Amino acid sequence: MYIRCTDQELIILKKIADSANELQVPVYLIGGFVRDKIIGRPTKDMDIVCMGDGIALADAVAKKFRPAPTVSFFKNFGTAQIKLSDIEIEFVGARKESYTYDSRKPVVEPGTLEDDQNRRDFTINALAISLNKEDYGTLSDPFKGLEDIENKILRTPLDPTITFSDDPLRMMRAIRFAAQLNYTIEEKTFEAIINNVARIKIVSGERIADELNKILMTKKPSVGFDLLYKSGLLKIIFPQMVDLAGAEYIDGKGHKDNFYHTLQVVDNISEYTDDLWLRWAAVLHDIAKPATKRFEPGHGWTFHGHEVIGGRMVPKIFAQLKLPQNEKMKFVRKMVEMHLRPIGLTKENITDSAIRRLLFDAGDDFDALMTLCNADITSKNKQKVKRYLENFELVRQRCAEVEASDQLRNWQPPVTGEMIMEKFKLPPGRIIGELKNAIREAILDGQIPNNYDAAMEFMLRKAEELGLNVNR
Ligand code: ATP
Repeated sequence: MYIRCTDQELIILKKIADSANELQVPVYLIGGFVRDKIIGRPTKDMDIVCMGDGIALADAVAKKFRPAPTVSFFKNFGTAQIKLSDIEIEFVGARKESYTYDSRKPVVEPGTLEDDQNRRDFTINALAISLNKEDYGTLSDPFKGLEDIENKILRTPLDPTITFSDDPLRMMRAIRFAAQLNYTIEEKTFEAIINNVARIKIVSGERIADELNKILMTKKPSVGFDLLYKSGLLKIIFPQMVDLAGAEYIDGKGHKDNFYHTLQVVDNISEYTDDLWLRWAAVLHDIAKPATKRFEPGHGWTFHGHEVIGGRMVPKIFAQLKLPQNEKMKFVRKMVEMHLRPIGLTKENITDSAIRRLLFDAGDDFDALMTLCNADITSKNKQKVKRYLENFELVRQRCAEVEASDQLRNWQPPVTGEMIMEKFKLPPGRIIGELKNAIREAILDGQIPNNYDAAMEFMLRKAEELGLNVNR
């Protein structure tokens, strides 16, 4: 089998082959590395399977390098890892697996290459290349994985129902690979996913989140999310997103299907950003539409306040999906809460003050917010989209102009609370806060420019009004 390896990879493979030969254990390169090399995708991690002790083989391989890399091993699993610059090599003894109903952790026993290939999730992941002297480089492809790569098909080596029921994480992996590689999940395999969705409950939330994040990081995330939806998995792992689906009609008036609108927004934003959290903001921007939906006779459907309620839903959804409860979550929440603000400024007669407030509130996240808002402009009517995008561009320009003169995005008060306390020899207190707020509001309203002299002058006037003794 001809695969294109770098010089460094060839050196590593040669040392593995030599070590296995010395230990007299058959050895194969298997799994994702083989798959990705055949497809021509960049790949870093090598999986090595041997018919013997994987940890002993890893030790022997490590000794062939100067300096010798550390071997990290997990005795219970019989696996070992070596890291050589950015290549991670995992060694494992070939194994046969059997599963109990309530766990995706198999009972394992030593096995043959064939047993090991049988336990793999997809035919394209079961390809193995021999590193043995007698047939170095020969491909073992018992399930026609090569053909599936050619036809861009995902299929399980054995009965898909058993494969998915044994380890339901494989259902998420199937959809993730379909999304990443742009492959089709073979019909019977997809049917088996549909029939086994309830089994996903035995998989940890963290593993599901990992796969969801990988799907979200694909070029066109709608593909993976749509498969999650159609298989029924999404309903179990993220029901709030499924609630967005469908359109209701009253008096002949409907609203858009917010699930497909959301997917469109996610695809749009993915053309502009690889930031996982901004992509999550796109997923969640309309999440409260079902909760806020009303039909107002004579007017139509409204979703008043969906941005605020949606923002409040973010922490709960992050906890439910085992996503981090940190500043990333706060960022997503802020994006959801603010996602209507820029588009609200496309109306005529928008004051500089409104623009200043947007810049001030968005702060460092202004560009991200504008990217989200731009992606949110979707419609079947191409003319409408074009017009909205043009209007939006005008908002962007006005923001740039106001920012150039007023510098509000990373606003620091030109007169601080400390300065005010110093001026009046006052301790911290309500009046200091009032004066600070008054300065900020005056700047945002455009009454005074954003600089020290103007802010100090304004503050002193205000202080006089409040009855403070101002010695000018
Ligand atoms: P990626 O690196 O993109 O996640 P990969 O296929 O390399 O893709 P790994 O999780 O590193 O994924 O797994 C390496 C190999 O181990 C896979 O190619 C597959 O053969 C096997 N494998 C991984 N997870 C499973 C699983 N849940 N069930 C069966 N086989 C699996």
